[in-house]
Amino acid sequence: MEGMQQVVGRARAAFSSGRSRSLEFRMQQLKALERMVQEKEKEIQAALQADLHKCGHSAYSQEILGVLGEVALAMDKLPSWAAPQPVKKNLLTMRDEAFINPEPLGVVLIIGAWNYPFVLVMQPLVGAIAAGNAVVVKPSEVSEHTARLVAEILPQYLDPELYPVVTGGVPETTALLTQRFDHILYTGNSTVGKIVMAAAAKHLTPVTLELGGKSPCYIDKDCDLAVACRRITWGKYMNCGQTCIAPDYILCDPSIQSKVVENIKATLQEFYGADVKSSPDYERIINKRHFQRIVGLLEGQKIAHGGEVDEASCFIAPTVLTNVSPESKVMEEEIFGPVLPIVPVKSVEEAIEFINRREKPLALYVFSNNKQLIKRVISETSSGGFTGNDVIMHFFLSTLPFGGVGNSGMGAYHGKHSFETFSHRRSCLIKDLKMEGSNKLRYPPGSQKKVDWAKFFLLKRFNKGKIGLVILAVVGIVAAVVAKMVYN
Ligand code: NAD
Repeated sequence: MEGMQQVVGRARAAFSSGRSRSLEFRMQQLKALERMVQEKEKEIQAALQADLHKCGHSAYSQEILGVLGEVALAMDKLPSWAAPQPVKKNLLTMRDEAFINPEPLGVVLIIGAWNYPFVLVMQPLVGAIAAGNAVVVKPSEVSEHTARLVAEILPQYLDPELYPVVTGGVPETTALLTQRFDHILYTGNSTVGKIVMAAAAKHLTPVTLELGGKSPCYIDKDCDLAVACRRITWGKYMNCGQTCIAPDYILCDPSIQSKVVENIKATLQEFYGADVKSSPDYERIINKRHFQRIVGLLEGQKIAHGGEVDEASCFIAPTVLTNVSPESKVMEEEIFGPVLPIVPVKSVEEAIEFINRREKPLALYVFSNNKQLIKRVISETSSGGFTGNDVIMHFFLSTLPFGGVGNSGMGAYHGKHSFETFSHRRSCLIKDLKMEGSNKLRYPPGSQKKVDWAKFFLLKRFNKGKIGLVILAVVGIVAAVVAKMVYN
Protein backbone atom coordinates (compact mmCIF):
# COMPACT_ATOMS: atom_id res chain seq x y z
CA MET A 1 0.00 0.00 0.00
CA GLU A 2 1.03 3.51 -0.73
CA GLY A 3 2.80 5.36 2.09
CA MET A 4 0.78 7.62 4.34
CA GLN A 5 3.13 10.47 3.58
CA GLN A 6 2.15 10.34 -0.11
CA VAL A 7 -1.58 10.19 0.62
CA VAL A 8 -1.50 13.11 3.04
CA GLY A 9 1.01 15.00 0.87
CA ARG A 10 -1.30 14.72 -2.12
CA ALA A 11 -4.28 15.90 -0.09
CA ARG A 12 -2.24 18.86 1.14
CA ALA A 13 -1.12 19.75 -2.38
CA ALA A 14 -4.75 19.57 -3.53
CA PHE A 15 -5.78 21.82 -0.66
CA SER A 16 -2.99 24.27 -1.47
CA SER A 17 -4.24 24.45 -5.05
CA GLY A 18 -7.14 26.40 -3.52
CA ARG A 19 -9.87 24.53 -5.37
CA SER A 20 -11.72 23.44 -2.23
CA ARG A 21 -12.21 27.05 -1.15
CA SER A 22 -14.90 28.22 -3.53
CA LEU A 23 -18.47 27.67 -2.38
CA GLU A 24 -19.44 26.36 -5.82
CA PHE A 25 -16.87 23.60 -5.54
CA ARG A 26 -17.97 22.64 -2.02
CA MET A 27 -21.60 22.56 -3.14
CA GLN A 28 -20.72 20.39 -6.09
CA GLN A 29 -18.84 17.91 -3.89
CA LEU A 30 -21.72 17.79 -1.40
CA LYS A 31 -24.13 17.15 -4.25
CA ALA A 32 -21.87 14.33 -5.49
CA LEU A 33 -21.80 12.85 -1.99
CA GLU A 34 -25.59 12.93 -1.89
CA ARG A 35 -25.71 11.21 -5.25
CA MET A 36 -23.29 8.54 -4.01
CA VAL A 37 -25.49 7.72 -1.02
CA GLN A 38 -28.61 7.60 -3.18
CA GLU A 39 -27.08 5.50 -5.97
CA LYS A 40 -25.18 3.12 -3.68
CA GLU A 41 -27.97 2.65 -1.15
CA LYS A 42 -28.23 -1.10 -1.80
CA GLU A 43 -24.47 -1.64 -1.51
CA ILE A 44 -24.34 0.35 1.75
CA GLN A 45 -27.21 -1.70 3.17
CA ALA A 46 -25.49 -4.94 2.13
CA ALA A 47 -22.22 -3.92 3.82
CA LEU A 48 -24.06 -3.05 7.05
CA GLN A 49 -25.91 -6.35 6.89
CA ALA A 50 -22.60 -8.20 6.51
CA ASP A 51 -20.88 -6.28 9.33
CA LEU A 52 -23.63 -6.02 11.92
CA HIS A 53 -26.55 -8.10 10.67
CA LYS A 54 -28.34 -4.78 10.21
CA CYS A 55 -31.54 -5.14 8.17
CA GLY A 56 -32.24 -2.77 5.26
CA HIS A 57 -34.80 -0.68 7.16
CA SER A 58 -32.52 -0.18 10.17
CA ALA A 59 -29.55 0.57 7.91
CA TYR A 60 -31.60 3.20 6.14
CA SER A 61 -33.02 4.90 9.22
CA GLN A 62 -29.90 4.63 11.40
CA GLU A 63 -27.16 5.45 8.90
CA ILE A 64 -28.31 6.52 5.43
CA LEU A 65 -31.05 8.95 6.42
CA GLY A 66 -28.76 10.82 8.80
CA VAL A 67 -26.15 11.39 6.09
CA LEU A 68 -28.75 12.53 3.54
CA GLY A 69 -30.27 14.92 6.10
CA GLU A 70 -26.87 16.35 6.95
CA VAL A 71 -25.91 16.89 3.28
CA ALA A 72 -29.25 18.54 2.50
CA LEU A 73 -28.86 20.88 5.49
CA ALA A 74 -25.28 21.77 4.55
CA MET A 75 -26.22 22.52 0.94
CA ASP A 76 -29.12 24.66 2.07
CA LYS A 77 -27.20 26.62 4.71
CA LEU A 78 -23.66 26.77 3.37
CA PRO A 79 -23.91 30.32 1.95
CA SER A 80 -25.03 31.70 5.31
CA TRP A 81 -22.58 29.57 7.34
CA ALA A 82 -19.63 30.63 5.20
CA ALA A 83 -20.56 34.32 5.03
CA PRO A 84 -18.45 36.78 7.05
CA GLN A 85 -20.31 37.65 10.26
CA PRO A 86 -20.17 41.33 11.26
CA VAL A 87 -19.56 41.89 14.97
CA LYS A 88 -20.47 44.71 17.37
CA LYS A 89 -17.98 47.57 17.43
CA ASN A 90 -16.78 49.99 20.10
CA LEU A 91 -16.04 53.70 20.04
CA LEU A 92 -12.53 53.17 18.71
CA THR A 93 -13.67 51.04 15.78
CA MET A 94 -16.94 52.75 14.94
CA ARG A 95 -15.81 53.63 11.42
CA ASP A 96 -14.07 50.30 10.68
CA GLU A 97 -15.15 46.97 9.29
CA ALA A 98 -15.08 44.20 11.90
CA PHE A 99 -16.17 40.66 11.13
CA ILE A 100 -15.49 36.97 11.69
CA ASN A 101 -14.46 35.17 8.54
CA PRO A 102 -14.80 31.35 8.68
CA GLU A 103 -11.93 29.76 6.78
CA PRO A 104 -10.96 26.12 6.15
CA LEU A 105 -8.35 24.61 8.47
CA GLY A 106 -6.49 22.60 5.81
CA VAL A 107 -6.15 18.82 5.85
CA VAL A 108 -8.49 17.09 8.28
CA LEU A 109 -8.32 13.46 9.46
CA ILE A 110 -11.54 11.63 10.32
CA ILE A 111 -11.17 8.29 12.13
CA GLY A 112 -14.41 6.33 12.51
CA ALA A 113 -15.62 3.55 14.80
CA TRP A 114 -17.29 0.29 13.77
CA ASN A 115 -20.66 0.48 15.50
CA TYR A 116 -22.31 2.85 12.99
CA PRO A 117 -19.52 2.51 10.46
CA PHE A 118 -21.05 4.50 7.62
CA VAL A 119 -22.61 7.50 9.33
CA LEU A 120 -19.70 7.96 11.75
CA VAL A 121 -17.32 8.82 8.91
CA MET A 122 -19.82 10.39 6.50
CA GLN A 123 -21.48 12.83 8.87
CA PRO A 124 -18.23 14.57 9.90
CA LEU A 125 -17.09 14.39 6.27
CA VAL A 126 -20.08 16.52 5.23
CA GLY A 127 -19.08 19.25 7.69
CA ALA A 128 -15.41 19.10 6.71
CA ILE A 129 -16.22 19.40 2.99
CA ALA A 130 -18.69 22.21 3.66
CA ALA A 131 -15.98 24.08 5.56
CA GLY A 132 -13.65 23.78 2.54
CA ASN A 133 -11.05 21.32 3.81
CA ALA A 134 -9.18 18.39 2.32
CA VAL A 135 -10.14 15.25 4.28
CA VAL A 136 -8.42 11.94 4.88
CA VAL A 137 -11.09 9.38 5.79
CA LYS A 138 -10.16 6.37 7.93
CA PRO A 139 -13.10 3.97 8.49
CA SER A 140 -12.82 1.32 11.20
CA GLU A 141 -11.21 -1.94 10.10
CA VAL A 142 -13.45 -3.84 12.53
CA SER A 143 -16.46 -3.24 10.26
CA GLU A 144 -14.50 -4.43 7.25
CA HIS A 145 -17.28 -4.60 4.66
CA THR A 146 -18.29 -0.99 5.16
CA ALA A 147 -14.63 0.10 5.21
CA ARG A 148 -13.99 -1.60 1.90
CA LEU A 149 -17.11 -0.14 0.34
CA VAL A 150 -16.31 3.42 1.48
CA ALA A 151 -12.79 3.10 0.03
CA GLU A 152 -14.25 1.86 -3.23
CA ILE A 153 -17.10 4.31 -3.82
CA LEU A 154 -15.94 7.61 -2.34
CA PRO A 155 -13.26 8.23 -5.02
CA GLN A 156 -15.83 7.43 -7.71
CA TYR A 157 -17.88 10.45 -6.69
CA LEU A 158 -15.59 12.91 -4.90
CA ASP A 159 -12.30 14.56 -5.85
CA PRO A 160 -9.93 11.64 -5.07
CA GLU A 161 -6.96 13.82 -4.21
CA LEU A 162 -8.81 16.05 -1.79
CA TYR A 163 -10.73 13.25 -0.06
CA PRO A 164 -8.66 10.04 0.04
CA VAL A 165 -9.75 6.98 2.03
CA VAL A 166 -7.20 5.00 4.04
CA THR A 167 -8.12 1.47 5.15
CA GLY A 168 -6.32 -0.84 7.55
CA GLY A 169 -5.94 -1.42 11.27
CA VAL A 170 -3.73 -0.27 14.10
CA PRO A 171 -0.42 -0.21 12.13
CA GLU A 172 -1.97 1.90 9.35
CA THR A 173 -3.71 4.27 11.79
CA THR A 174 -0.49 4.59 13.79
CA ALA A 175 1.43 5.46 10.62
CA LEU A 176 -1.26 7.92 9.59
CA LEU A 177 -1.09 9.64 12.97
CA THR A 178 2.60 10.48 12.53
CA GLN A 179 1.58 12.82 9.69
CA ARG A 180 0.72 16.43 10.25
CA PHE A 181 -2.98 17.33 10.09
CA ASP A 182 -4.80 20.57 10.77
CA HIS A 183 -7.57 18.86 12.72
CA ILE A 184 -8.39 15.31 13.78
CA LEU A 185 -11.88 14.06 14.56
CA TYR A 186 -11.70 10.67 16.24
CA THR A 187 -14.63 8.46 17.20
CA GLY A 188 -13.93 5.47 19.41
CA ASN A 189 -12.89 4.48 22.91
CA SER A 190 -11.11 6.69 25.46
CA THR A 191 -7.89 4.63 25.54
CA VAL A 192 -7.24 5.13 21.83
CA GLY A 193 -8.51 8.71 22.21
CA LYS A 194 -5.46 9.39 24.40
CA ILE A 195 -3.16 7.87 21.74
CA VAL A 196 -4.73 10.10 19.07
CA MET A 197 -4.44 13.20 21.22
CA ALA A 198 -0.79 12.47 22.07
CA ALA A 199 0.05 12.02 18.38
CA ALA A 200 -1.82 15.23 17.53
CA ALA A 201 0.06 17.14 20.24
CA LYS A 202 3.34 16.54 18.42
CA HIS A 203 2.09 18.81 15.63
CA LEU A 204 -0.10 21.06 17.82
CA THR A 205 -3.07 19.67 15.91
CA PRO A 206 -6.45 20.35 17.53
CA VAL A 207 -8.70 17.34 18.11
CA THR A 208 -12.35 16.51 18.42
CA LEU A 209 -12.71 13.30 20.41
CA GLU A 210 -16.05 11.54 20.22
CA LEU A 211 -15.66 8.93 22.95
CA GLY A 212 -17.98 6.79 25.03
CA GLY A 213 -18.65 5.89 28.64
CA LYS A 214 -21.47 4.66 30.82
CA SER A 215 -24.57 6.74 30.11
CA PRO A 216 -26.97 6.54 33.09
CA CYS A 217 -30.75 6.49 32.92
CA TYR A 218 -32.71 7.52 36.01
CA ILE A 219 -36.39 6.57 36.26
CA ASP A 220 -38.41 8.53 38.80
CA LYS A 221 -41.28 6.85 40.65
CA ASP A 222 -43.60 9.56 39.30
CA CYS A 223 -43.50 8.36 35.71
CA ASP A 224 -45.49 6.52 33.05
CA LEU A 225 -43.45 3.31 33.19
CA ALA A 226 -44.95 1.71 30.08
CA VAL A 227 -43.93 4.66 27.92
CA ALA A 228 -40.56 5.14 29.62
CA CYS A 229 -39.63 1.47 29.26
CA ARG A 230 -40.68 1.33 25.61
CA ARG A 231 -38.39 4.26 24.80
CA ILE A 232 -35.54 2.82 26.89
CA THR A 233 -35.90 -0.62 25.28
CA TRP A 234 -35.69 0.95 21.82
CA GLY A 235 -32.53 2.92 22.62
CA LYS A 236 -30.82 0.17 24.58
CA TYR A 237 -31.27 -2.75 22.22
CA MET A 238 -31.03 -1.04 18.83
CA ASN A 239 -27.87 -2.14 17.06
CA CYS A 240 -27.63 -4.88 19.73
CA GLY A 241 -26.68 -2.34 22.39
CA GLN A 242 -23.66 -1.15 20.41
CA THR A 243 -24.57 2.53 20.50
CA CYS A 244 -22.35 5.13 22.14
CA ILE A 245 -25.32 6.97 23.66
CA ALA A 246 -27.39 3.89 24.55
CA PRO A 247 -28.60 4.00 28.16
CA ASP A 248 -25.87 1.91 29.80
CA TYR A 249 -27.69 1.21 33.09
CA ILE A 250 -30.86 2.15 34.96
CA LEU A 251 -31.07 3.81 38.35
CA CYS A 252 -34.48 3.56 40.05
CA ASP A 253 -36.23 3.04 43.35
CA PRO A 254 -36.26 -0.63 44.43
CA SER A 255 -40.07 -0.46 44.64
CA ILE A 256 -40.44 -0.03 40.84
CA GLN A 257 -37.63 -2.38 39.75
CA SER A 258 -39.82 -5.38 38.99
CA LYS A 259 -42.35 -3.22 37.11
CA VAL A 260 -39.50 -1.85 35.00
CA VAL A 261 -38.44 -5.41 34.14
CA GLU A 262 -42.04 -6.38 33.28
CA ASN A 263 -42.47 -3.40 30.98
CA ILE A 264 -39.16 -4.01 29.20
CA LYS A 265 -40.13 -7.67 28.69
CA ALA A 266 -43.48 -6.67 27.22
CA THR A 267 -41.79 -4.18 24.87
CA LEU A 268 -39.23 -6.73 23.71
CA GLN A 269 -42.09 -9.04 22.80
CA GLU A 270 -43.78 -6.17 20.92
CA PHE A 271 -40.57 -5.23 19.03
CA TYR A 272 -38.92 -8.56 18.24
CA GLY A 273 -41.63 -11.22 18.80
CA ALA A 274 -41.24 -14.38 20.84
CA ASP A 275 -38.05 -15.48 19.09
CA VAL A 276 -35.62 -12.55 19.06
CA LYS A 277 -33.00 -14.58 17.24
CA SER A 278 -35.13 -14.82 14.14
CA SER A 279 -36.20 -11.17 14.15
CA PRO A 280 -34.74 -9.22 11.20
CA ASP A 281 -34.75 -6.12 13.42
CA TYR A 282 -32.23 -7.46 15.93
CA GLU A 283 -28.52 -7.11 15.15
CA ARG A 284 -25.49 -9.18 16.21
CA ILE A 285 -22.33 -8.41 18.17
CA ILE A 286 -19.61 -7.20 15.82
CA ASN A 287 -17.08 -10.00 16.53
CA LYS A 288 -16.04 -12.84 18.86
CA ARG A 289 -13.77 -10.62 20.97
CA HIS A 290 -16.62 -8.27 21.87
CA PHE A 291 -18.99 -11.24 22.25
CA GLN A 292 -16.74 -12.82 24.88
CA ARG A 293 -16.20 -9.52 26.64
CA ILE A 294 -19.96 -8.95 27.01
CA VAL A 295 -20.68 -12.55 28.06
CA GLY A 296 -17.99 -12.10 30.72
CA LEU A 297 -19.98 -9.21 32.19
CA LEU A 298 -22.90 -11.55 32.97
CA GLU A 299 -20.87 -13.67 35.40
CA GLY A 300 -22.35 -13.80 38.88
CA GLN A 301 -25.28 -11.54 37.95
CA LYS A 302 -28.98 -12.07 38.56
CA ILE A 303 -30.53 -12.34 35.11
CA ALA A 304 -34.13 -11.14 35.27
CA HIS A 305 -34.65 -11.54 31.54
CA GLY A 306 -32.71 -12.85 28.53
CA GLY A 307 -29.21 -14.22 28.98
CA GLU A 308 -29.28 -16.60 25.98
CA VAL A 309 -26.12 -16.49 23.89
CA ASP A 310 -24.79 -18.18 20.75
CA GLU A 311 -21.12 -17.74 20.05
CA ALA A 312 -21.19 -19.06 16.47
CA SER A 313 -23.52 -16.26 15.33
CA CYS A 314 -22.38 -13.65 17.91
CA PHE A 315 -25.94 -13.52 19.24
CA ILE A 316 -26.69 -12.19 22.72
CA ALA A 317 -30.37 -11.90 23.67
CA PRO A 318 -31.70 -8.64 25.11
CA THR A 319 -30.82 -9.05 28.77
CA VAL A 320 -31.87 -7.30 31.98
CA LEU A 321 -29.97 -7.65 35.27
CA THR A 322 -31.56 -6.69 38.61
CA ASN A 323 -30.19 -5.62 42.00
CA VAL A 324 -26.80 -5.01 40.44
CA SER A 325 -24.03 -3.98 42.81
CA PRO A 326 -22.22 -0.75 41.87
CA GLU A 327 -18.95 -2.59 42.52
CA SER A 328 -19.58 -5.36 39.97
CA LYS A 329 -17.65 -5.66 36.70
CA VAL A 330 -20.67 -4.77 34.58
CA MET A 331 -20.73 -1.39 36.35
CA GLU A 332 -17.04 -0.70 35.82
CA GLU A 333 -16.76 -0.49 32.04
CA GLU A 334 -19.01 0.68 29.21
CA ILE A 335 -21.19 -2.34 28.33
CA PHE A 336 -21.64 -1.66 24.61
CA GLY A 337 -23.92 -4.66 24.25
CA PRO A 338 -27.54 -5.71 24.92
CA VAL A 339 -27.18 -6.02 28.70
CA LEU A 340 -29.11 -3.62 30.93
CA PRO A 341 -28.26 -3.58 34.64
CA ILE A 342 -30.65 -2.02 37.12
CA VAL A 343 -28.99 -0.47 40.17
CA PRO A 344 -31.48 0.39 42.89
CA VAL A 345 -31.23 3.88 44.44
CA LYS A 346 -33.50 5.33 47.12
CA SER A 347 -33.91 8.86 45.81
CA VAL A 348 -33.01 11.35 43.11
CA GLU A 349 -30.33 12.71 45.48
CA GLU A 350 -28.73 9.29 45.62
CA ALA A 351 -28.93 8.99 41.81
CA ILE A 352 -27.22 12.38 41.37
CA GLU A 353 -24.50 11.42 43.83
CA PHE A 354 -24.02 8.09 42.05
CA ILE A 355 -23.62 9.83 38.69
CA ASN A 356 -21.28 12.52 40.02
CA ARG A 357 -18.94 9.99 41.64
CA ARG A 358 -18.17 8.56 38.18
CA GLU A 359 -16.63 9.86 34.95
CA LYS A 360 -18.73 12.39 33.05
CA PRO A 361 -20.90 10.34 30.68
CA LEU A 362 -21.58 10.95 26.99
CA ALA A 363 -25.34 11.07 27.61
CA LEU A 364 -27.69 11.23 30.58
CA TYR A 365 -31.38 10.35 30.66
CA VAL A 366 -34.11 11.09 33.19
CA PHE A 367 -37.72 9.95 33.05
CA SER A 368 -40.27 11.76 35.20
CA ASN A 369 -43.63 13.53 35.06
CA ASN A 370 -41.96 16.22 37.12
CA LYS A 371 -40.12 18.68 34.87
CA GLN A 372 -38.66 20.39 37.95
CA LEU A 373 -36.92 17.15 38.87
CA ILE A 374 -35.57 16.79 35.33
CA LYS A 375 -34.17 20.34 35.41
CA ARG A 376 -32.68 19.68 38.82
CA VAL A 377 -30.74 16.69 37.50
CA ILE A 378 -29.51 18.83 34.59
CA SER A 379 -28.27 21.54 36.94
CA GLU A 380 -26.60 19.20 39.45
CA THR A 381 -24.77 16.84 37.04
CA SER A 382 -22.68 17.00 33.87
CA SER A 383 -22.70 14.94 30.66
CA GLY A 384 -22.01 15.37 26.94
CA GLY A 385 -25.72 15.51 26.12
CA PHE A 386 -29.07 15.06 27.82
CA THR A 387 -32.55 13.90 26.90
CA GLY A 388 -35.46 14.04 29.33
CA ASN A 389 -38.29 11.51 28.99
CA ASP A 390 -36.63 9.77 26.05
CA VAL A 391 -33.24 8.37 25.03
CA ILE A 392 -30.88 8.99 22.07
CA MET A 393 -33.08 11.74 20.58
CA HIS A 394 -30.81 14.72 21.30
CA PHE A 395 -28.47 13.13 18.72
CA PHE A 396 -31.01 13.65 15.94
CA LEU A 397 -31.58 17.37 16.44
CA SER A 398 -28.81 18.89 14.36
CA THR A 399 -29.06 22.32 16.01
CA LEU A 400 -27.71 20.65 19.17
CA PRO A 401 -23.92 20.14 19.22
CA PHE A 402 -23.14 16.44 19.64
CA GLY A 403 -20.11 15.56 21.74
CA GLY A 404 -18.76 14.53 25.10
CA VAL A 405 -17.23 16.23 28.11
CA GLY A 406 -14.32 15.07 30.27
CA ASN A 407 -13.77 11.36 29.78
CA SER A 408 -16.53 11.13 27.16
CA GLY A 409 -14.72 13.46 24.78
CA MET A 410 -14.15 17.03 23.68
CA GLY A 411 -15.50 19.20 20.91
CA ALA A 412 -18.71 18.54 19.03
CA TYR A 413 -20.27 18.30 15.60
CA HIS A 414 -23.57 17.94 13.65
CA GLY A 415 -25.14 20.54 11.40
CA LYS A 416 -23.67 24.00 11.74
CA HIS A 417 -21.54 22.78 14.65
CA SER A 418 -19.65 20.52 12.22
CA PHE A 419 -18.98 23.48 9.95
CA GLU A 420 -17.62 25.42 12.93
CA THR A 421 -15.53 22.48 14.18
CA PHE A 422 -13.77 22.29 10.82
CA SER A 423 -13.38 26.05 10.33
CA HIS A 424 -11.11 28.64 11.83
CA ARG A 425 -13.08 31.68 12.97
CA ARG A 426 -10.72 34.34 11.75
CA SER A 427 -10.99 37.76 13.40
CA CYS A 428 -10.81 40.50 10.80
CA LEU A 429 -10.62 44.25 11.30
CA ILE A 430 -10.23 46.62 8.37
CA LYS A 431 -9.47 50.27 9.07
CA ASP A 432 -8.79 53.05 6.64
CA LEU A 433 -5.79 55.30 6.63
CA LYS A 434 -7.68 58.43 7.67
CA MET A 435 -8.33 59.80 11.18
CA GLU A 436 -4.73 59.39 12.24
CA GLY A 437 -5.31 62.12 14.85
CA SER A 438 -7.38 59.88 17.07
CA ASN A 439 -4.69 57.19 16.88
CA LYS A 440 -2.17 59.42 18.63
CA LEU A 441 -3.82 58.34 21.83
CA ARG A 442 -1.95 55.04 21.65
CA TYR A 443 1.39 56.35 20.39
CA PRO A 444 4.25 57.45 22.65
CA PRO A 445 5.01 59.71 24.43
CA GLY A 446 2.41 58.75 27.03
CA SER A 447 0.58 61.24 29.29
CA GLN A 448 -2.15 61.17 31.94
CA LYS A 449 -4.46 62.94 29.51
CA LYS A 450 -4.05 60.19 26.96
CA VAL A 451 -4.75 57.55 29.60
CA ASP A 452 -7.90 59.40 30.66
CA TRP A 453 -9.14 59.52 27.05
CA ALA A 454 -8.28 55.87 26.50
CA LYS A 455 -10.28 55.03 29.65
CA PHE A 456 -13.20 57.01 28.31
CA PHE A 457 -13.11 55.27 24.93
CA LEU A 458 -12.66 51.76 26.21
CA LEU A 459 -14.39 51.58 29.56
CA LYS A 460 -17.41 53.83 29.15
CA ARG A 461 -20.65 51.85 29.01
CA PHE A 462 -23.86 53.32 27.63
CA ASN A 463 -27.34 52.06 28.27
CA LYS A 464 -28.92 50.39 25.33
CA GLY A 465 -32.08 51.72 23.71
CA LYS A 466 -32.72 54.65 21.41
CA ILE A 467 -31.59 57.38 23.79
CA GLY A 468 -28.43 55.44 24.57
CA LEU A 469 -27.63 55.18 20.86
CA VAL A 470 -28.14 58.91 20.31
CA ILE A 471 -25.89 59.69 23.26
CA LEU A 472 -23.30 57.24 21.88
CA ALA A 473 -23.32 58.91 18.47
CA VAL A 474 -23.02 62.40 19.99
CA VAL A 475 -20.24 61.29 22.32
CA GLY A 476 -18.45 59.69 19.38
CA ILE A 477 -18.54 62.88 17.34
CA VAL A 478 -17.50 65.05 20.30
CA ALA A 479 -14.69 62.64 21.12
CA ALA A 480 -13.40 62.68 17.55
CA VAL A 481 -13.45 66.48 17.47
CA VAL A 482 -11.79 66.77 20.87
CA ALA A 483 -9.15 64.22 19.94
CA LYS A 484 -8.42 66.13 16.80
CA MET A 485 -8.09 69.43 18.70
CA VAL A 486 -5.93 67.99 21.46
CA TYR A 487 -3.54 65.96 19.36
CA ASN A 488 -3.27 67.69 16.05
P1 NAD B 1 -12.68 0.82 16.85
O1 NAD B 1 -12.07 -0.41 17.40
O2 NAD B 1 -13.30 0.79 15.50
O3 NAD B 1 -11.59 1.96 16.90
C1 NAD B 1 -11.83 3.23 16.34
C2 NAD B 1 -10.70 3.61 15.42
O4 NAD B 1 -9.49 3.67 16.16
C3 NAD B 1 -10.46 2.63 14.28
O5 NAD B 1 -10.47 3.34 13.06
C4 NAD B 1 -9.13 2.01 14.59
O6 NAD B 1 -8.37 1.77 13.43
C5 NAD B 1 -8.44 3.03 15.45
N1 NAD B 1 -7.52 2.44 16.41
C6 NAD B 1 -7.73 1.37 17.20
N2 NAD B 1 -6.66 1.13 17.98
C7 NAD B 1 -5.74 2.07 17.67
C8 NAD B 1 -4.42 2.37 18.14
N3 NAD B 1 -3.83 1.64 19.07
N4 NAD B 1 -3.79 3.43 17.60
C9 NAD B 1 -4.37 4.17 16.65
N5 NAD B 1 -5.61 3.94 16.18
C10 NAD B 1 -6.29 2.90 16.67
O7 NAD B 1 -13.83 1.35 17.79
P2 NAD B 1 -13.99 1.25 19.37
O8 NAD B 1 -12.98 2.05 20.06
O9 NAD B 1 -14.22 -0.17 19.79
O10 NAD B 1 -15.40 1.99 19.43
C11 NAD B 1 -16.26 1.84 20.48
C12 NAD B 1 -16.16 3.04 21.40
O11 NAD B 1 -16.45 4.22 20.65
C13 NAD B 1 -17.16 3.03 22.52
O12 NAD B 1 -16.55 3.50 23.68
C14 NAD B 1 -18.23 3.98 22.03
O13 NAD B 1 -18.99 4.55 23.08
C15 NAD B 1 -17.44 4.99 21.31
N6 NAD B 1 -18.25 5.68 20.31
C16 NAD B 1 -18.45 6.99 20.46
C17 NAD B 1 -19.23 7.66 19.55
C18 NAD B 1 -19.49 9.13 19.67
O14 NAD B 1 -20.01 9.70 18.72
N7 NAD B 1 -19.11 9.79 20.75
C19 NAD B 1 -19.80 6.98 18.48
C20 NAD B 1 -19.55 5.62 18.36
C21 NAD B 1 -18.77 4.98 19.27
